[in-house]
Order: sequence, then structure tokens, then C-alpha cells
Amino acid sequence: MLKKGNKLYSILTGSCPRCHKESMYVDKNPYHMGKIFEMHDRCGHCDLKYKIEPSFFYGAMYVSYAVGIAFAVAAFVIANLFLGASLITTFIAIIGTLVVFMPVIMRISRNIWINMFVKYDAKATLHNTSR
Ligand SMILES: [Zn+2]
Repeated sequence: MLKKGNKLYSILTGSCPRCHKESMYVDKNPYHMGKIFEMHDRCGHCDLKYKIEPSFFYGAMYVSYAVGIAFAVAAFVIANLFLGASLITTFIAIIGTLVVFMPVIMRISRNIWINMFVKYDAKATLHNTSR
């Protein structure tokens, strides 16, 4: 279902938004907190520069609000509607979800953000770039 060439693939795996061939991140696991924002400068396969401009990824903060709300809504639906938890328990579940998934939310936000600017290009390689 999730194939290279689909933006969701890059967003969920953190792979290069242009060629989808390698991870943008030095450490793929977002729960290695010390390295959560450590990214390669360029894609080793297609030479895409990830940081398109200085402080490019500050914009990802806006995306992270939306992604955070999506996780909060999901936590609400599961806790309150499916499990029938009380409002206070639901509230705690939402906070817990946001804390536990924060590294994932921050990574996904960056991935969505860069995918808004970079299109997938199956033919992108080191020697065939259009920049
Ligand atoms: Zn690439």
C-alpha cells in the first residue's frame, strides 16, 4: 500500500522527499532524543539540499500544531468514545498521548513541511538534477 513515489511514504518514513531512496535523518529512531533533529545536509542519492533556506524547518512548527491536534483528537475518540473513559481520564490520555508521541509528531511535521515544497522525482540522481 505504501510505495515509493507516494508523498505519504516520505512523510511516514522520513525519507528524502525527492527520490525516497534514503532517510533524511542521521538516526531513524525519533526516540533517540539527542539526535531527533540531526539531519543530513543533502541527500546522498539525489543531492537534494534538505534545509532549503536558513531556518527552513521553523515552518514545521505550524504543521506540528495541526499534527498535534490530530493526535489529540485521535486520543479523545479512542479514550472517550471507544473506551468510555470519563472526561478527566480522557484529558489525561490526551496529554499522555501528546507527550509519548512528541518525537514522532515533530518528525512527521518536518516531513510534511518539506514535502510541501519538494516534489517526488523518480529520475532524480546525483547526475540528473534540475535545480
Ligand atoms: Zn534524494
